[in-house]
Amino acid sequence: MKIRLKDYRIAPGEEVDLKKRKTLVTPVYHSKDNYHEMLADHVAKLSELQQRHYADNSHAVLVIFQAMDAAGKDGAIRHVMSGINPQGCQVSSFKHPSATEVQHDFLWRAAIKLPERGQIGIFNRSYYEDVLVVRVHPEILEGQGFPAKRLKGDDLWEDRYRSIRDFERHLHANGTRIVKIFLHLSKEEQRKRFLARIDEPDKNWKLSPSDVEERKFWKDYRKAYEAAISATSSADAPWYVVPADDKENARLIVSQIVLDLLDGLKPHFPKVTAAHEAELQAIRADLIGQRE
Ligand code: AMP
Ligand code: MG
Repeated sequence: MKIRLKDYRIAPGEEVDLKKRKTLVTPVYHSKDNYHEMLADHVAKLSELQQRHYADNSHAVLVIFQAMDAAGKDGAIRHVMSGINPQGCQVSSFKHPSATEVQHDFLWRAAIKLPERGQIGIFNRSYYEDVLVVRVHPEILEGQGFPAKRLKGDDLWEDRYRSIRDFERHLHANGTRIVKIFLHLSKEEQRKRFLARIDEPDKNWKLSPSDVEERKFWKDYRKAYEAAISATSSADAPWYVVPADDKENARLIVSQIVLDLLDGLKPHFPKVTAAHEAELQAIRADLIGQRE
């Protein structure tokens, strides 16, 4: 089945209502075998496009993942990027900021991890955490020496959305192509996945008490996501809300998003100039002459 990305893309200015957006849809695959075939096909195409993207060296690609815990970010990144040459790809995870990081503005730690031209950068969480977890728990900022006056009122969040829009527009203007993916999980599916993380010993390490604590703020997170996505989806840096209750289906949609982005860049291997071609032919003749 054809994957229609526009079903998941958030139009600039659209007010997102996550309750109206499905966490589960009819899968694009019709059997497990078919899923593996489709994923392998996407991975092969991604690998080929990435090689040309790397050689072309004209744009950088940035893929941002955001989601509630257990939505499948890590698995999506692992599967989708499995065919990619590690030299051309960098994954950065953003966790609780360090003592050094909180001494800077909220974009700083992400800015120093941005991909170079020819590269694919993956952000596993991002500066969006600063309008998500931090909006749900603004007291985080108090502990960071943030100017107390700025903590009052809603201006802070509107300012941060604007900073993000400006930052992403600046990156786009300078050759970075950005997509932002929200893996949209239901609360019930999270409950099941948390239980699996307790019941399956190999998954125990994945669950911490704080994950379960954050679940209590589900509604606040939904509102923070809705506000952030609505304020920052642009033509140049669109958000995609991807149904995530079916992990396999989510991976196929995610890989299609990255494929379309890379394909849209039309990356090509650099053309050899006539002078370089002549040089190569001269070297070739010389090498042939050196035969012992
Ligand atoms: P995980 O990605 O599951 O390993 O968890 C990382 C944790 O770090 C999540 O609970 C995030 O909400 C948290 N985190 C990431 N960025 C920030 C931030 N800027 N401020 C506070 N917490 C953050
Ligand atoms: Mg976690």
